[in-house]
Amino acid sequence: MEASYYAGKTVVFDDVCFYCGDTEVLDTDEVKSMKEDFGIVRPICRVCKDIKPIKTRNAKKVKKQKSDCSVPPKVFLWDFNS
Ligand SMILES: [Zn+2]
Repeated sequence: MEASYYAGKTVVFDDVCFYCGDTEVLDTDEVKSMKEDFGIVRPICRVCKDIKPIKTRNAKKVKKQKSDCSVPPKVFLWDFNS
């Protein structure tokens, strides 16, 4: 089996671990609840979950923050969309 997942420039994240590409990603209640809180929750496998944070973006629940997005945080390594 060849690792052709990332051969193309357009990477489709289809339930493979964001960190290691494992196809057995977690679908726990924690992940599900995070999907309710965030627009995007990157899939993560159990191994990486133990040592890395779940990557999220587009938080839905933002409390009383100014709608000033002129300086968005650029801390995500996986920001392939921009
Ligand atoms: Zn992983």
